[in-house]
Amino acid sequence: MSIAKGRILITGGAGFIGSHLCERLLNDGYDVLCVDNYYSSTKDNIAHLLDNPRFEVIRHDVTFPLYVEVDQIYHLACPASPIHYQRDPVQTTKTAVHGSINMLGLAKRTKAKILLTSTSEVYGDPAVHPQSEDYWGNVNPIGPRACYDEGKRCAETLFFDYHRQHDLKIKVVRLFNTYGPRMHPHDGRVVSNFIVHALANKPLTVYGHGDQTRSFCYVDDLIDGLIAMMASPDDITGPINLGNPGEFTIAELADQVIEMTGTSAGIEYLPLPQDDPVRRRPDISHAKKALGWEPTVPLEQGLEKTVHFFKNLLAA
Ligand code: UDP
Repeated sequence: MSIAKGRILITGGAGFIGSHLCERLLNDGYDVLCVDNYYSSTKDNIAHLLDNPRFEVIRHDVTFPLYVEVDQIYHLACPASPIHYQRDPVQTTKTAVHGSINMLGLAKRTKAKILLTSTSEVYGDPAVHPQSEDYWGNVNPIGPRACYDEGKRCAETLFFDYHRQHDLKIKVVRLFNTYGPRMHPHDGRVVSNFIVHALANKPLTVYGHGDQTRSFCYVDDLIDGLIAMMASPDDITGPINLGNPGEFTIAELADQVIEMTGTSAGIEYLPLPQDDPVRRRPDISHAKKALGWEPTVPLEQGLEKTVHFFKNLLAA
């Protein structure tokens, strides 16, 4: 076996995005240390990697310190879907804030480069459209989404203060809505909900009138963006938006899933959750220029792969 290129820690490595990142970095020849507490993830996501000698897994909650020796850290750990992060909001804030302090401390001791997956939620219900990185956001600090939004905003603050105060090599990316195989079937996300309902021939649950918009990035594109960011020169700290600028209403997404799956169960309209952002679309000109990155997978193609994944999952 060839010598590994380096050891990479991925917190939240058993999650939807984390597991794809573990897989890619193993394929690229790195040693991968996956840390997860399985709060909103599953061992099934990484089961196929366990017999790879370059892969290690630790069950660990990032709100507690971690002592390992690594060269790079991708800090993903945090419940990210509204139903998951709102189930225990105090713990969500602790995960975002204490988790970041612990991982930044680890990066400081080991001199590892550290990347934070922040979120488009830092823009709140945006008054500026599309959202570019210089927009400071419109977040309700006491609402039901605040534990995640403000938690991630504080995590960004910590990253930049560690950078200024301790000279840490940091990378901050803001992820917009991402979808694909290994999404949790019960995470309440719009893409997974619609597909899971359609395959069970249950009505698709549209919240509000379905005229709110989101921009959906296929997971493989996102992984390319994360890796490009980590590989970028040290002066590129971010924050950088990573997402697909193709913008769709939720009603349009529902129509597409109905057409693709052939379900006849129709749509059920349910109340819009509090503080649900009305519009969301990333301005990715910064990522294009700094990283040479942009998504390539069209929504229809990504949805087909995701439908295929859920068909197999539900059949099993
Ligand atoms: N949504 C919906 N039906 C669902 C789940 C979500 O209409 O079954 C809507 C939700 O109100 C929001 C959008 O879809 O406007 C995206 O929701 P999601 O939870 O996927 O992500 P968010 O971008 O809100 O974090």
